[in-house]
Amino acid sequence: MSYVDEVLAEVRKKNASEPEFLQAVGEVLESLRAVVDANEEKYRKYGILERLVEPERIISFRVPWIDDKGDVRVNRGYRVEFNSAIGPYKGGLRFHPTVNQSILKFLGFEQTLKNSLTSLPIGGGKGGADFDPKGKSDREVMAFCQSFMNELYRHIGADSDVPAGDMGVGGREIGYLYGQYKRITGRYEGVLTGKGLTFGGSLGRTQATGYGLIYILDEMLSHKSISLEGKRVVVSGSGNVAIYAVEKAQQLGARVIAMSDSNGYILDEDGIDLDIVKDIKEVKRGRIKEYADRKPGVSFHEGARGIWSIKCDIALPCATQNELDLEDAKKLVENGCFAVAEGANMPSTLEAAAYFVEKKINYMPAKAANAGGVAVSALEMTQNSERLSWSFEEVDRRLKDIMVNIYAMTSRAAEKYGHEGDFVTGANIAGFEKVAEAMMGQGVC
Ligand code: NDP
Repeated sequence: MSYVDEVLAEVRKKNASEPEFLQAVGEVLESLRAVVDANEEKYRKYGILERLVEPERIISFRVPWIDDKGDVRVNRGYRVEFNSAIGPYKGGLRFHPTVNQSILKFLGFEQTLKNSLTSLPIGGGKGGADFDPKGKSDREVMAFCQSFMNELYRHIGADSDVPAGDMGVGGREIGYLYGQYKRITGRYEGVLTGKGLTFGGSLGRTQATGYGLIYILDEMLSHKSISLEGKRVVVSGSGNVAIYAVEKAQQLGARVIAMSDSNGYILDEDGIDLDIVKDIKEVKRGRIKEYADRKPGVSFHEGARGIWSIKCDIALPCATQNELDLEDAKKLVENGCFAVAEGANMPSTLEAAAYFVEKKINYMPAKAANAGGVAVSALEMTQNSERLSWSFEEVDRRLKDIMVNIYAMTSRAAEKYGHEGDFVTGANIAGFEKVAEAMMGQGVC
């Protein structure tokens, strides 16, 4: 049995109740076969694969808080510290009712390789809670964040583990979390990223994941002499990643015609008016359906999934994991879609991703495509250490350079191992090689 198959069998046995984690590990290990086979002896000697798929530490804790009615509520919080071979654990916190250990392990595992691709010194981690900020008052969100930090603070630090935002955790939540960390520890340090601009946040962090997604998409297409100008683009989600992907795509001349949330999608053939979306989502914390009430000629369709049946040139899934399955992938390709870049983490099912690779459409997987967010988080850490803040232009320039470099590394690795144009294989190999090298260099630990 090959080394990859041995480890895959063991992972499946040990983590049978964690489907998302198994999906992520399966996808990565399958695509690492060529590099693992070529280096089997040294990787086996250091147990690289066995260690790569086992988090260094998982912390799980009770988060009690009091709602506006005075009732006690209890959620479950987590921090998965996955791999610190190349730097302090780094990765977001997700507050969403679906959060569980399987989802956070898949995200932490992916994060390890993604962070490696940025070329910055950051390891992989992820955390969160099964708390739903939707429909909660500001006071309830603050009470929850403070209670969450009452436990988390003892596990994190500016040089050991630096969480950021993810689904359900934006500027408001990071602010409350940071305030509580500072109050408990008395330290003013870069222990969280995505902070407000008046207390250590970086210009450009809010835009980073969405802008980065479009930078790498544009880079990939420019190698085929294709421009974004006039292209029909469909973007799922209407959260942080989706909004800034739309903003940058529009700046580069694309026509974005659809967005969604978990209730359904809007179709606006004249092109999305992002000011309206920002007002609904960022200011009022409302539903995307309201867009159709505010702009004539726009239709709202119940059910988020239908968004992939819209005819488009480019699809950007920016909502959540497994939001695009094989049937959706076939529909997209049949309708002439020639590029997919993933803003969300693992938005395509294994079958959908394999289909995109097989059809040789320009498919940039999440690990490479959405790395801009964590890259600018790492730049925020640098600014905090220096006690300086850089201009928006400086951060944006570095973000663009990082995304262009990720494209180059990914496409070079794919080519080197005989998979030219397969960015899934390329991103996994490029991310893995650096982590494996660092793990071997530090011995078995
Ligand atoms: P937000 O919470 O800001 O937004 C998430 C959006 O996705 C919301 O519009 C939400 O709608 C929608 N959504 C959730 N579930 C579904 C569903 N089943 N079908 C359709 N829409 C859905 O999160 P982010 O924008 O921050 O994150 C989105 C994705 O990007 C996640 O996978 C995250 O891990 C990934 N990511 C985020 C980064 C960041 O910097 N923020 C960095 C890298 C990756 P609703 O309001 O109805 O729930």
